[in-house]
Amino acid sequence: MDKLEALKRLFPGKVDLSESERLRHGKDEGYPKEGEVLAVVYPEGVEDVQKALLWAREHRVAVIPYGAGTSLEGHLYPVQEAISLDLSRVNRILEVRPQDFLCVVEPGLTRKALNEALKGTGLFFPVDPGADASLGGMAATNASGTTTVRYGGMRANILALQVVLANGEVLELGRPVRKTSAGYDLKDLFIGSEGTLGVITRLTLRLHPLPEHVHTLRVFFPGVEEAAEASFRVMASGLPVARLELLDEFALKALNRHLGTGFPERPALFLEFHSSTREALEAESALALALVEEAGALEVEAAKTEEERRRQWEARHQAYWATVHLFPGHQFVITDVAVPLSHLPEMVRYAQGLLKEMGLFGTLVGHVGDGNFHTLVPVLPENYPRGEAYAERLVQKALELGGTCTAEHGVGLRKKPYLPLEHGATLEWMRRIKALLDPEGLLNPGKVLDMP
Ligand SMILES: Cc1cc2nc3c(=O)[nH]c(=O)nc-3n(C[C@H](O)[C@H](O)[C@H](O)COP(=O)(O)OP(=O)(O)OC[C@H]3O[C@@H](n4cnc5c(N)ncnc54)[C@H](O)[C@@H]3O)c2cc1C
Repeated sequence: MDKLEALKRLFPGKVDLSESERLRHGKDEGYPKEGEVLAVVYPEGVEDVQKALLWAREHRVAVIPYGAGTSLEGHLYPVQEAISLDLSRVNRILEVRPQDFLCVVEPGLTRKALNEALKGTGLFFPVDPGADASLGGMAATNASGTTTVRYGGMRANILALQVVLANGEVLELGRPVRKTSAGYDLKDLFIGSEGTLGVITRLTLRLHPLPEHVHTLRVFFPGVEEAAEASFRVMASGLPVARLELLDEFALKALNRHLGTGFPERPALFLEFHSSTREALEAESALALALVEEAGALEVEAAKTEEERRRQWEARHQAYWATVHLFPGHQFVITDVAVPLSHLPEMVRYAQGLLKEMGLFGTLVGHVGDGNFHTLVPVLPENYPRGEAYAERLVQKALELGGTCTAEHGVGLRKKPYLPLEHGATLEWMRRIKALLDPEGLLNPGKVLDMP
């Protein structure tokens, strides 16, 4: 029997062979090339995932796990014949345990759906990559976002995982506790593995109390370097920073055009503090103001209402799309470096200067409380190599300063050339782990690492 016929028999009503779905599942939000998978399979539970992996092994077809498709680096592009394993139907909340500050969920659930369901419990799940990503996809990319400076990224918020290996074996990794020293931490190996080591089928997540006293500011500076310097001072002060985001003048210009907002078009920090009492909030806000003024702030705006606060962060999350909409017909190179905090002012100055030197335009935004920022560089297709050359020089500089080539977006296909620069001989140990867990190389092949 033909392999697709066998797949349809194995999964009645759960296979889509339409061209539109095969194309939609062969691409992500940021990679310029579009691929096409052989078929899309919608598992409805862990047994379906096991069956799909065994079918793939028998027919020597690759498997690409698919969450919400919001990744940026070519994670979903099929480099060889592959099926897409779309986990969106495996999306239940299995348990919420407010007294233990945790919940157990399936991987296809999105972070917004989880927070919607948590309304009324006084708890929330803090990791927010902007896009409404699936929790399985966020675990697989070790996602983080604007609140990571306070609450940590996915790795800090995952207590346990259920994972299906390429051979169909199911592993239970981690425990529903905040601490454990029991043996090698295999759970962390799968976080950030981009679907190349196993398929995540269940997650136990940490929840946090909703903050009661929140203060949100927008602070504008003469240059990005002053803004970065201010972010360093705020971090060094020990203030309870919950969000600390940099947007350069070009990002704010793009936002004003895209959303019709009236932000001053100068480099800015968007900040938020979560304090324990009203008195603490007032004292901490006064200290924050003094610090940013010392660092050269020109203008400070405070969000006065919950609605204004919501709009400010919504605008921050739209920064990517604002630039994309300004440049129809362009391709986009996105960088994602992070450096130790003390080097951030030098790094952002370099990033802007290099754009000028290479005759490129780009908007710069970042989670600077974590030393992480992105330059989004629109280029016409024929200039794509120049955009990539910019990204490579930025990575080289970040590594010289002790940083990383990707803080949160992951490697996919696009960041692969930088891994030897970052890891050197250690990369060989990553290959050995991949070979051990997926000897036939069927799980999301070509991503993160090239196998010999
Ligand atoms: C506008 C915009 C802003 C963004 N901002 C941020 C940001 O601030 N921080 C950040 O971290 N990211 C950001 N991203 C990137 C993206 O949202 C994250 O990488 C997200 O974690 C991807 O989740 P997903 O569900 O969309 O996964 P997908 O894109 O579907 O998949 C991503 C990877 O995970 C694998 N995968 C998916 N589900 C599973 C599973 N169950 N088991 C094993 N592997 C799986 C896939 O094979 C793939 O390799 C942004 C994206 C956009 C479009």
